[in-house]
Amino acid sequence: MQAQVKLGRIAGISIGLHYSWFIIALLIALSLAAHFHMSNPRWSDVTVWSAAIVTGVMFFAALLLHELAHSILAKARGLKVREITLFALGGVSQIESEAPDAKAEFWIAIAGPITSVVIGLVLIGAAWLSGWRSGTEPTTPVGAVLLWLGYINLALAAFNMIPGYPLDGGRVLRALIWWITRNADRATRLASQIGQAVAFAIILLGLFQFFTERGNFGGLWLVFIGWFLLDAARTSYAQIGLMTELRGRTVGDIMDRSCPTVEPYLSLQDFVDGVLLRSGLRGYVVVHNAQVVGLITPHEVKEVPRDRWSQTSVQAVMRPLGKVRTVSPDTPALQALQMMGRDDINQLPVVSDGHLEGLFSRSHVVRFLQAHAQLHSH
Ligand SMILES: [Zn+2]
Repeated sequence: MQAQVKLGRIAGISIGLHYSWFIIALLIALSLAAHFHMSNPRWSDVTVWSAAIVTGVMFFAALLLHELAHSILAKARGLKVREITLFALGGVSQIESEAPDAKAEFWIAIAGPITSVVIGLVLIGAAWLSGWRSGTEPTTPVGAVLLWLGYINLALAAFNMIPGYPLDGGRVLRALIWWITRNADRATRLASQIGQAVAFAIILLGLFQFFTERGNFGGLWLVFIGWFLLDAARTSYAQIGLMTELRGRTVGDIMDRSCPTVEPYLSLQDFVDGVLLRSGLRGYVVVHNAQVVGLITPHEVKEVPRDRWSQTSVQAVMRPLGKVRTVSPDTPALQALQMMGRDDINQLPVVSDGHLEGLFSRSHVVRFLQAHAQLHSH
C-alpha cells in the first residue's frame, strides 16, 4: 500500500496516509459525535464536536505508536523499514525483509499489541484520575475522551492478537512454530492455515449472530472482518509458495537470454519505429562493441518532444550504465526481486564483466512460476 499524503519522518521512517484513511477518519468523527451526544445529552454541540475530533486524532496517534513499536524493533534487529502507512483498517509498517530468526519475529510482532495495552491502561488510569469511577459513565468531556481511547486501545490489542496470520497474533504464533520446528516456511504455512480456520470461524459466528438475532449488524461486521482475515491469510499462503519456489534460484535461472538490445547511435525516431513499436517491450539494453553502456525505456523517449526524435540519439537520453541498477547471473532471484520492489523498477539488466547476459524482469518471474506450476500439476 502506497501512501499518498506524506506526513513527515519519525526515527528515519516516513509516515504517510492512504486516501482511504480520510473516509474512515470522517466516519469515526461522526460516530464519536453521535456517541458523545447520546451519552451526555447536556453537552453543547461545540463540546461534543471538539471531543469527537480530539478523540479521533488521538486514536490515530495511538495507531501510529503501535506501528512505530513494530518498526523500531524491526530496525533494532537490522531490518530496513521503508514507511508506515495509515489506511482505512489501521496501519501497516513496510518492513523490507523477513526477520532473521524466530526470536526477532516474536518481538517485532508482539511489540505492537504490548504498546497498545500500555497506552490503553495509561489512558484508563488517567480517566480514573480525572474523576471517573468504574461502572459509571464519565461526566466530563476529558474523562469521556480518555476512557473511550483507553478501551479502544485495549480492543485494538485484542483484535491484533487474534491468531490469524498476517495479524500480529498470527505472527507471534508463526514465530513460536518456527522456534519449535526450526523451519520458517513450514511455520508460515501452518500459521496461515490456522489463520484461515480462525477467519472461517469468525465468519460463521457473524452469520449465526445475524440470523439468530435478526437485524444484528454487529454480526455483519464480524463477517466482514472474517472475510478480510481470510483474504489476508490466503495471500500470505500464496506468497510463501512463491518464496519456496524462488529460494535457491539465481537470476541466471530465470532471466531472458534473448533480450532486445539497441545501438547507442540509433536515432530515437528509428528506435521508436523499428524497435519499440514492433516488440512492445518496456526496457532495452544499449550495447556498444559488446559492452553494456546503458538502458532505455519508453519513459526516456517521452521526455523528448516528438519533432526532435530524428535528431536525437539513443545515447543522448538513455540512462548510462553508472545510473542503472544491474545484477549478475549469480544474484539470488529473491534479492533481485527485493531490489526491484525497493527502487520501483521493472527490469534489471544482467551483466557479468561488462557483458550483457540477459534481462531480469517481473514478467519473467511470473512466466517461470507459471511454467513450474504446470509441471507440478501434471
Ligand atoms: Zn500490529
